[in-house]
Amino acid sequence: MMVTDSTELPAPVGAGVYNVYTGAQAGSAVPTAAQLGLEPPRFCAACGRRMIVQVRPDGWWAKCSRHGLVDSTDLDLYR
Ligand SMILES: [Zn+2]
Repeated sequence: MMVTDSTELPAPVGAGVYNVYTGAQAGSAVPTAAQLGLEPPRFCAACGRRMIVQVRPDGWWAKCSRHGLVDSTDLDLYR
């Protein structure tokens, strides 16, 4: 788990360097927890790598080979 502080999303979804859905350089577009609840990320926001994504009935996890795994249940902390 990559919980940093009370306001930051984990790097693979919150870094804001790459768009988590397109993999394009995003500037500072960080998805909200609500967006992530509807659609899991596909690309790491920190490095733009395609992540391994597993969707479950109750959520998803996504794993970047460099930045680690993010689980949607962890994002509940940020709602
Ligand atoms: Zn990464």
